[in-house]
Amino acid sequence: MKISKVTPMVMGTPWRNLLFVKVETDDGLVGWGEARPVGGVGPVIGYLQESVPRFIIGRDPYNTEDMVYRMVRETYGRAGEIAMTGIALLEMACWDIVGKALDQPIYRLLGGACRDKVKAYANGWYRAERTPDAWHAAAKEVVAKGYRALKFDPFGDGFYEFTRQQKNHSIALVEAVYDAVGPDVDLLIEMHGRFNPVTAVEIIRDLAQFRPAWVEEPIPPENMRALRDVREVALSLGVPVATGERIHTPYEFRELFELQAADIIQTDLTHFGGIMNMKKLAGTAEMNYVIVAPHNVGGPCSTMASLHFAISTPNFMIQEYFNDFADPPVKAVAKGVPEVVDGYFSLPTAPGLGIEIDEDIIRANPQRETDFNLFSGEWQLRDLK
Ligand SMILES: [Mg+2]
Repeated sequence: MKISKVTPMVMGTPWRNLLFVKVETDDGLVGWGEARPVGGVGPVIGYLQESVPRFIIGRDPYNTEDMVYRMVRETYGRAGEIAMTGIALLEMACWDIVGKALDQPIYRLLGGACRDKVKAYANGWYRAERTPDAWHAAAKEVVAKGYRALKFDPFGDGFYEFTRQQKNHSIALVEAVYDAVGPDVDLLIEMHGRFNPVTAVEIIRDLAQFRPAWVEEPIPPENMRALRDVREVALSLGVPVATGERIHTPYEFRELFELQAADIIQTDLTHFGGIMNMKKLAGTAEMNYVIVAPHNVGGPCSTMASLHFAISTPNFMIQEYFNDFADPPVKAVAKGVPEVVDGYFSLPTAPGLGIEIDEDIIRANPQRETDFNLFSGEWQLRDLK
């Protein structure tokens, strides 16, 4: 079996464009990959245009280890978000093909099931005015849908510093959500790398009363020593620190583990070279008593690839999911993604990723010009255009 054709397709929504790739083999099998490229779909499509003829066409889709290794080594330029997204798209599509060829769900080829359901957390549910009343009502809808965990960033357009008024308002939003969902639902507090270390620590002290399941990216992602400093205070308060969605290669994680700078890593397999890189990283994380909560702002293939990882990984924690609260066509574009019921995904049973993509729905939702900016305006509405 050899790969004969790779076709990129873009599906647009008001705030995110999803890049699908359809990978076909000479014996008629089809695999799919998909990601939401943070830095824009164009650069990843350009990467694929140059790399697919060189590394993919004519290759055996079973040989994903060699494919990923060669795409990084032989390109020679250091791989970052663009390359690791392109590689991930192709790697997950190859796993989809392999699973279909063997008539097995991917997780059964990755060590099998470690759990019989996968805990999910809701994101994208707070598309409302930034008032305690509006967020209280929105949070009620999340738990009414069965979720037992939800994530949100209450910090508006804050960056580095925070006025007392901004801080008080943000804490009031957290309190409103806490009151709405009760003490048994996990609150995941997203900080989007907004703050300098001292401001982050000041805010974490105020958040500790709500016992958040984590604080995420309390400071920008580049400086692990600064993150270690923040984490030491958070640890003393019993507040876990999560980070990792903007770390794109295994090598970039070394310093995080050496410094014990985080409790939870949130690698996004669609920006990290795919499923097997995630499995290997989870092994290193386990050696350091770190658990894994895959980041996922994507559509059906992203979600399913993360689920197969989650099912087969002992130190998995919880899976992010937007698509119950954002962009209905993203849910309609595939059949087979399990629904979140009572806060959990059930295990997929179909071979490969376990889904069927409707290309007509991709074509009916063309690429959009997006202006999604976490550092200005009412970004939480996620429908600026
Ligand atoms: Mg995040």
